[in-house]
Amino acid sequence: MDTVTGNDENHLTNGVDGYFGLCPHCHKHDGYVNIGKGHWFVCHEHKVMWFVGSNLFSSWKDQTEEGQRRYYDERGLDSYKHLELEQVYTPPEVYERGEDLYPGTGIILNKGN
Ligand SMILES: [Zn+2]
Repeated sequence: MDTVTGNDENHLTNGVDGYFGLCPHCHKHDGYVNIGKGHWFVCHEHKVMWFVGSNLFSSWKDQTEEGQRRYYDERGLDSYKHLELEQVYTPPEVYERGEDLYPGTGIILNKGN
């Protein structure tokens, strides 16, 4: 995994947990990027991204629109294919676990916020 410059605090790095789905090609992800309040998980190798929700993580509040746009442009995210959720791979153990915690990060999903 390469180092991301710029607005990279939005980058979760434990890329093999499937709570938010995984790339259907490699069953990994490279974290997420924020677009506005929305969170998109990405696989840079296969140039795919998928939307998981808005305002689940507070990270977008610390980012500027300019910073987000710069990151988007630097990574060339406009060339990425947007996957429908049914195209995203979710490992069976994620369904079985059914937790509201993103493993390895301590991030509790506060859906009511
Ligand atoms: Zn991939």
